[in-house]
Amino acid sequence: MIPLKILHLEDDEKDAIIIKKTIQEEFEHAIIKKVDTQGDYETELKKEKFDLILSDFSLPGFDGIKALNIAQKLVPETPYIYVSGHIGEDRAIDALKLGATDYVLKDKLVKLIPAIKRALKEVEVKEENKRIENNLKESEEKFRTIVNNFPVVLFMTDENGIATFSRGKGFEISGIKSENLVGANIADMYKGISFKLINGIVISGKEAFNNALRGEIQNGVIFLNDRFYETKLLPYFDDLKNIKGIIGISLDVTELISTQNQLKESEETFRKIFESAPIGMARLTSNGNYLSANLVLQKMLGYSEEELKSMNLDDITFGEDKIKSKEMFYNLISDESNYVKFEKRYITKSGKIIWTNITSTAVKNKEGNILFLITMIENINERKEAEIALKESETRFKDLAALLPLTVFEINLTRQITYVNKTGLKTFLYSEEDIQKGLTIDKIPHSKDLKFIFERFEQVLKGKQFGGLEFTAVRNDGTEFPCIVYSNAILKDDRPAGIRGILIDNTERHNTLEELVMAKERAEEMNKLKTIFLANMSHELRTPLIGILGFADILKEELKKEENMDMVNTIYDSGTRLLETLNLILDLSRIEAGKVQILYKAFDVIEVVKELVKLFQSISQKKELYLKIETPFEKLEVELDERMFHSVIKNLISNAVKYTAKGGVTIKIEFEERKENGILIVGVSDTGIGISEENQEIIFDEFRQISEGYSRNFEGTGLGLTIAKNFVQKMGGDIKLKSRQGKGSTFKVSLPAKVINIKSAEKENTPESVLKDVAASEKNNIPVIPEILLVDDDDITASVIKLYFKNIYIIDWAIDGEAALEKVNTKRYDLILMDVNLKSNLNGMDVTKLIRSIPDYKDTPIIACTAYAMKSDKKKFLDAGCTDYLSKPFTRDQLKKTIDSVLTK
Ligand code: ADP
Repeated sequence: MIPLKILHLEDDEKDAIIIKKTIQEEFEHAIIKKVDTQGDYETELKKEKFDLILSDFSLPGFDGIKALNIAQKLVPETPYIYVSGHIGEDRAIDALKLGATDYVLKDKLVKLIPAIKRALKEVEVKEENKRIENNLKESEEKFRTIVNNFPVVLFMTDENGIATFSRGKGFEISGIKSENLVGANIADMYKGISFKLINGIVISGKEAFNNALRGEIQNGVIFLNDRFYETKLLPYFDDLKNIKGIIGISLDVTELISTQNQLKESEETFRKIFESAPIGMARLTSNGNYLSANLVLQKMLGYSEEELKSMNLDDITFGEDKIKSKEMFYNLISDESNYVKFEKRYITKSGKIIWTNITSTAVKNKEGNILFLITMIENINERKEAEIALKESETRFKDLAALLPLTVFEINLTRQITYVNKTGLKTFLYSEEDIQKGLTIDKIPHSKDLKFIFERFEQVLKGKQFGGLEFTAVRNDGTEFPCIVYSNAILKDDRPAGIRGILIDNTERHNTLEELVMAKERAEEMNKLKTIFLANMSHELRTPLIGILGFADILKEELKKEENMDMVNTIYDSGTRLLETLNLILDLSRIEAGKVQILYKAFDVIEVVKELVKLFQSISQKKELYLKIETPFEKLEVELDERMFHSVIKNLISNAVKYTAKGGVTIKIEFEERKENGILIVGVSDTGIGISEENQEIIFDEFRQISEGYSRNFEGTGLGLTIAKNFVQKMGGDIKLKSRQGKGSTFKVSLPAKVINIKSAEKENTPESVLKDVAASEKNNIPVIPEILLVDDDDITASVIKLYFKNIYIIDWAIDGEAALEKVNTKRYDLILMDVNLKSNLNGMDVTKLIRSIPDYKDTPIIACTAYAMKSDKKKFLDAGCTDYLSKPFTRDQLKKTIDSVLTK
């Protein structure tokens, strides 16, 4: 407790002690300061604050009244009690009037303590009142300030709605002066105003006011002079609960409302964006639960918004991406990042996994608490799938390139190797580090190829395409090998950025090529040998054949006995067949040797065909087959290679007869005239076994027969059609086949030919007439018997020829060149048959040249006879001076025809 502090004005020491004692009996710790002069008194009062002043009335040079005045001036609040001797009642009353608190007589000091207590109490009450008064003042001031400075309208009415009080700056804003309101009828003022109640219903201001006057609180917003006021009309009552009037409070909320409207607008904008965004959008709680999802997202995930609202983010995140997703989510809500952006997979309702791109951010309030998370989900499945496919194909190609047993490389524009596969490293003996350190290809081509390769690469960069470029490559250890490189330009943004290619070690191919060249040369050599062999063999085979055929021919005429005739015929037929085979082989070897040359000469097609028919007459008669020619011509002289034509048609007739058992063979000769050359068409049709479709192609191949192997039913070499086709093609024509198995075949030969002479037939060609014609043509009379010199080292041939022409020509024989020269020098022959191969110093051609030098023999026909039945030789013979040429073996007819033709020239 704070001790009581008392200032005591007293000039009597004794009295002072008594008074002090009296006080301290009640207030043990009271501090009593005694002064006795005016100066000390004033000094003390100014120096410190006392709770109480005690004063004697009469003081030397100073009195109690004066002291009181001083106290009232300096410390008016401090209680002032006179403690004095008797001063008289009047003076005491004056003193109290002047403002002293009390008066106590020194002889009645018992009253002092109650007086002090009273005075102190009084001070306490006074102070309390003052405080209350101050507080009141303060709060009044506050209220005034608030009402005057804030946009509040405050008024009060009586029970009739007449304003009794009004305050507030709000009126200033609304244009009404606050003071002007008192005495006005507020209900009337509210007439034209709308009052929007908080439940949204709008009533008139007057109605609202009357409602309030009936005791209902009205709460709403009014719109006045372009401003909004949130308004409360509060009825107030007297003790008897009668309406005494209305207290009206209006608060200007114009700014608030516009802020609210703005907020609403921005919310609306946000909602629109959210709904119509072309990507998926969702709002989530900070726990990852869905709050809303736009249509795009619903469509993307297959879940409706309602379904999503019952789900957590984690529920539809693809397993492998859950950890990443959670981590990102945590970063966001833990304030580590303002937003997160990452790729992840969702599982849709249908179970499909889709790739998305996520951008998520947290929306927070002022305090920084998360309101919700807003997430944008972009479907990047297609892009991702393409990316994955690209990666896969990249890996696939990389793997393949690594596997390839050839060098795969890429270089940049400075020829630095940017990629090379393992095979490449192995081939060129470089390591991966070498490449990483930066290696150019400058050391790869051999110095001799360097310029060429780099020039080519420059062109490749410009977009030029080359096949394989061959060059010599150099390994890291300096060894070399042949290689071939295929390359093209690497383009980046349509600009060349380097070269990519493959390089193949060509060593093996080089070796193979060399082997191949060698093999080809060997094969060609062998082929040559074969041709020579065939030529030689034909000579060796033909010579004895002349003997066989010649004598058989003579014997056919000489022998009468039926039995012997058969044998001779067999010898003759077998010989003929052998000769034919020989001819075919020879033709083939000539074709192969490329030595077949066409010799165009005019001849009568009809005559040649008639002759051929005659040739097959006896065999077809034996098989009881008809063999006929159908043609509108009697003579059809065209320019063609007669030998080839003969060979082709003979072959076709031969086959037709061979492969026909019933019916017969028809040869149809037609001619289509054209502007320049005409087309000769010869069809050979038979009623034989026919050829299946699948075999129609192969029969034109060498040595191919339909029945092949040991079980074949027909004899033959399988060469006939090959040669026929070849000859026809050589003459610029073609050969076509129409056939049905079991029904027969037709081979149709078309040949472009220049027509020389053409004559229509008066009568139809029958087999008989053909034969007759042929027989008639045989009787080609030559008036004198010509003398012929036969030069041949083979005595059999000589005997055969002599026998052939026993009664037709006179045949003289010379065994070699020397003998021949001797004979021509002594006699003049009409014709010389000259064998080319004479087993003496001089060969036939040497002898011919010598004979030609004899004046008498300048124009004498010399026919070269040789087994070297190669067409190309013929020119050699004619150049040496021969008139004609006949290859061995020849039949009697052939020889006779040749002799007659040169003799009648
Ligand atoms: P070859 O008659 O000597 O066997 P070809 O080359 O002349 O050889 O004929 C080849 C094959 O074509 C014959 O073996 C035969 O099977 C078939 N062929 C040819 N002509 C006829 C034909 N007119 N009728 C049926 N088959 C034929």
